[in-house]
Amino acid sequence: MTFDGNLSFDNIRHVAKDFGNIYHLMPCAVLHPKSVFDISSTVKYIFDMGSTSELTVAARGHGHSLKGQAQAYKGVVIDMESLSVPEMNIQTGTLPYIDVSAGELWINMLHESLKHGLAPKSWTDYLHLTVGGTLSNAGISGQAFRHGPQINNVHRLKVITGRGEIVTCSEEHNADIFHAVLGGLGQFGIITEARIALEPAPKKVKWIRALYSDIYAFTKDQENLISSRDSFDYIEGFVIINRTGLLNSWRSSFKPKDPVGANHFISEGRILFCLEVAKYFDPAESSKHIDEDIDTLLSKLSYIESTVFISEVAYPDFLDRVHQSEMKLREKGLWEVPHPWLNLFIPRSRIHEFSEEVFGNIVRDTSNGPVLIYPVNKSRWKNITSLITPAEDVFYVVSFLFSATPSSKGKDGLEHILAQNNRILQFCERRRLGIKHYLPHYSTQEDWKTHFGTHWEVFCRRKRTYDPLAILAPGQNIFQRASSHGRHTYSSRNVA
Ligand code: FAD
Repeated sequence: MTFDGNLSFDNIRHVAKDFGNIYHLMPCAVLHPKSVFDISSTVKYIFDMGSTSELTVAARGHGHSLKGQAQAYKGVVIDMESLSVPEMNIQTGTLPYIDVSAGELWINMLHESLKHGLAPKSWTDYLHLTVGGTLSNAGISGQAFRHGPQINNVHRLKVITGRGEIVTCSEEHNADIFHAVLGGLGQFGIITEARIALEPAPKKVKWIRALYSDIYAFTKDQENLISSRDSFDYIEGFVIINRTGLLNSWRSSFKPKDPVGANHFISEGRILFCLEVAKYFDPAESSKHIDEDIDTLLSKLSYIESTVFISEVAYPDFLDRVHQSEMKLREKGLWEVPHPWLNLFIPRSRIHEFSEEVFGNIVRDTSNGPVLIYPVNKSRWKNITSLITPAEDVFYVVSFLFSATPSSKGKDGLEHILAQNNRILQFCERRRLGIKHYLPHYSTQEDWKTHFGTHWEVFCRRKRTYDPLAILAPGQNIFQRASSHGRHTYSSRNVA
């Protein structure tokens, strides 16, 4: 086989690692494609080997998975970031869009579209992720209540199936594979290009945080905000457990609206809920009204008086905010540590029951990392993609974004955090809360069946159609590669 790019067999250990830093599955080769043809011919070659081969193929975006989802034990990993497709192409006009390579990082797409005064509508909290990687999951952030996740803001995809065929698809054309691939955990095809919807880009952002000690008041305000016509442009929130003192560290770049009152506010180790919202504006057009608009919105909320903090930042800096934290953590050597993250969708009707037990008894402090909690409105989400969400119209995104200290046996150690995650999950199971995992990972197919519920049959039918030998994305551990050599085991944490 000849390639425009190259296939490496040496120095490939880095792809047996991801952001989670818990699973390490060694492949046999890494393909650095230069063209879509490099990918399609590799997959076709492996497909044509049929069940005589055990080879699998994993597309790797930026390797920011948590549990080996972009790894391929003894298989071929495709480094999607080295794919060169024509430069990003932007269409301006009434329905603007951008055509990008699936290996492109969202941060690069932001900078390119800003040159035309445009930007994508829906984001993740962190932009150093690839287009193909987030579209294979969902891509959720504080804009999702209005625009849906990133998978709802795609016009067209170019995909290579598990047979090596190149398919262009959209809502109108090859719609079944289009919907299958969005949120499809890499199971049905490798996305090589995407057409992403754009909107006029705001210039600046008023970024606001306010504290609550009452979860009922906090969730009531969040839910009102996501359902109001006239609201903020970004709505999230997080939990602060057992922090004492003046609570300065989490709001260092924010100015208190009431400096005297804020200086006297002491958390006393309470469980606090922090509403985080943002309003976009253009100083040339709306600087007079923006403060009044924000005051009107804030006047309807029941946060603890004197705990409103405001920051004004440029739009790209707001979107790229987590990267600032990344730089600081990298400096301290705290970025490349294990990340036993747990991301859940909790039905609205059960969020208080969840909160009472989990924040009251199981998670005793938030010193290992942030815990996000915010509602989204499913009526704005398309329900024909492969993404699985709870049955209710409103559900909460709850993310435990903990980092473990390597080799610690204490509360900040990996085993402790994993055990805590298990306690949370066991509680959800015992009470039948109807939760769903986001960025899911299971070790048995039974668990996957439960995850997909009534959607399992469709998921399997699509797998048989688009990747009948189960060659693609083996690290998700959903299907076994069809092979006459017997079963592959992918679930072990260290098979290097
Ligand atoms: P990878 O981890 O490389 O791949 C993810 C999966 O998709 C794998 O199964 C892989 O095989 C498959 N895949 C990759 N590329 C393709 C492709 N082109 N075609 C088909 N399949 C492909 N997610 C959110 O929704 N919201 C957030 O706010 C958010 N914040 C995050 C912050 C940080 C610091 C990190 C590390 C992750 C965050 N994520 C968030 C999760 C992120 O969406 C996932 O990690 C996702 O996997 C994207 O990472 P990646 O591009 O590195 O993809």
